[in-house]
Parts: sequence; structure tokens; C-alpha cells
Amino acid sequence: MLLESTIYNLTSDCSAYISQGEEAEIDSIIRQAIEQGKSAGVVTTARLTHATPAATYAHSPDRNWESDADIGPANGACKDIAQQLIDNNHDIQVLLGGGRRAFLPVSEPDPETNAPGVNKRMDGRNLVDDWESIQQGKNNNYRYVWKKQDFDDVDPDEVDFLLGLFSPSHMQYELERDTSGDGEPSLAEMTDKAIKILRRNKNGFALMVEGGRIDHAHHENKAKKSLEETVQFEEAIKMAMSLIDQKDTLVVVTADHSHPFSLTGYTNRGNPILGLVDPLGINIEPTLDGLPYTSLLYGNGPGYTSPRQDLTGVNTETTDFIQQSAVPLEFDTHSGEDVGIYALGPMSHLFHGVHEQHYVAHVIQYAACIGEYAKNCRKKSGTLRSVIHGNPEV
Ligand SMILES: [Zn+2]
Repeated sequence: MLLESTIYNLTSDCSAYISQGEEAEIDSIIRQAIEQGKSAGVVTTARLTHATPAATYAHSPDRNWESDADIGPANGACKDIAQQLIDNNHDIQVLLGGGRRAFLPVSEPDPETNAPGVNKRMDGRNLVDDWESIQQGKNNNYRYVWKKQDFDDVDPDEVDFLLGLFSPSHMQYELERDTSGDGEPSLAEMTDKAIKILRRNKNGFALMVEGGRIDHAHHENKAKKSLEETVQFEEAIKMAMSLIDQKDTLVVVTADHSHPFSLTGYTNRGNPILGLVDPLGINIEPTLDGLPYTSLLYGNGPGYTSPRQDLTGVNTETTDFIQQSAVPLEFDTHSGEDVGIYALGPMSHLFHGVHEQHYVAHVIQYAACIGEYAKNCRKKSGTLRSVIHGNPEV
């Protein structure tokens, strides 16, 4: 079935959204997997209500409507994203990430810091309590956790429904992560726990794992942080690969967009990736302004200065060093290059060359026998599993 050609103009307009009704909603592969009896999970280092994770379970005219406090009175008929997660998607078995503030009432202090004014909900609801009541009412084995020690204590063979909200907003950058019991788990640790819970379903599972902060560090022009987040994303992929069987599990690794981020210059072999292109200024033609430059640069963002800063003697390898950019912006933008897509497992051969982005969802549906391909499989539906890794969106 082709998508309808109607273009819905729903941006930030609740009445337009309501008037279109369910016609305007497209089921995600997470919902389609659950419909076919599979388990499902969403794991991110960003807020669970942030763009990429929200796209797996919510429908909203505005991506920023993460709590009811984010929706103005004129659009009050629309449900916020956190509410949609708890009210309509409590059958997603694993939900791990940040963004606790959208789930808790503004009248209550943050459980971690006891600080007032952190939580956002204006409707008085405690969506975590509500989630626990729902799971209790269904006699499910469930756990809610908000710090690493409690997360570590979760036995994936005993818990069927796991909600983890480890931070009021996004989780910490890996280079700043509190790894103590009071801190936060890593992306790989969350992936490990998620797969061990979900793979117990004989019908298979769908899991979306997002290295959500690669993007955020790029927006700040902080290359070191972004590269470390990318390494952590790789650790999560390695963890997933060690836990699944490629004979029955499709693993897809991709991104939703790029950034104006470049590796430039004819640097010397062995030069640090975060260093100056030619620190001694002897091997390459000098720059026209006579100043050195780093191998990693941004097209736009907060790294712009005028005149360009002289980096001679500056340590460009610190965690918060801001790479130089060509155009001044508070935050760098996304950019338009094609992004890579890598896949292993059943039907992974269907990823090759250049694809339109909606094709990705069709391949996953086809491989996992879900959605419009639920009846296309000769094998009994449910023998295939899928793990989907995504990259972030801000
Ligand atoms: Zn972004």
C-alpha cells in the first residue's frame, strides 16, 4: 500500500490534527511488532519523549509537546507525548532513557536531587505511579528504576516490564557520566538489559536503540564529546551483536541526519584526531591568515569567532573544547548528506546503494513479518526478530 498523497499541515496545530483523526497517523514498527505478538523496547540516552524515541510510539503535531506544560491552552485537546507513552503504550516492555521531568508533577521535587521546580506536569498526574498501577493491574512483573544501582539489580529473567528514567532531561554525556550506583547506566548496559528481557519472547522482538547525544554534542561543536558518544553507540551495537543470533535477527544501524562536521587537511600520519592539522607548521602550506587549524571543523555553530582564534599552544583535546566553525550560530544545524545504513541478518541484503528513508521501515516490516507484510511470510509469523539502532534528532 502506498502512503496517501495528501500533505497534512499539522505543525503545532492541534485542531488540524484532531480533524484529520487517525487517518493522519502511521503505525510505527514498534506498534506493528506488538500487534504480531512480539515484544518491543525503546532505549535512548536522550529524553524518552525526545524526537526519535517519541516517533516509535506517539503522534503529535509538535515534537516539543513532551509534557502537558509544553502545550498551550489553544492546543489543550492534544495529548502530550509522555502521557501517550503511559496511557497508550504501556505494552512496550522496555523503556529506558532520560526525561523524567515530563512524567512527574511540578508539585513534587525531583527524586534524585530533591530539587523543586524540576518536574513539569501541570495536570497533577504522576505518570510513573500510573504506569506501575497499570502493570500491577495486569499482574505483570515490572520494575521502575531511576538510578544505576537499581537498574543493575534488575534480573532480566524475572522482570517483563522495565521503565527506567535516569535523569530529569537527557542522560549524561559518557565523558561526564556518574558511573556510581547513584548514577546512570551506559547505552551498552541498557541495550544488554533490554535484549535479555525482550529475547525471552518466542515470537521475537523489535528494539530501537538511540545514541541520542552524538547529535547534541555536535550542536555544541564539541567534537570530542560527540566522538565519545559515537564510540558508546558502537559499544551498544557490539553488545547487541553478542546477544542475538544473526540467523533470526535483523540488525540495522543508521542515522536520521548528518551535521556540518568535517575531517580536513593533509595532516601527518599519527596526528591526534583532535589535534591541529600541522602543529609544528612545517609540513603543509600555511593558512592564508597564518593561523593553525584543527583537523575537525564545523560549517556552522558556536565555534565561530572573528577574527579566527589563534590556537597556537591551545589544548584542543579537552572534553569541552569547541571546534571552530565558519558561520556563527548558537547551535550548529543538521545537514543534508546521505547517511550510512548498515545491516546484518535476515533480509539485510535489501539494504544496498541509495534508498529513500521510508524504504528502511518497509525492509524491517518485511523481514520481521509485521505491518503490511505480516501475511507475506511463508514461515509462521514471529520467527524473525529485529533490532533497530537509530541515531538522534534534536
Ligand atoms: Zn539535532
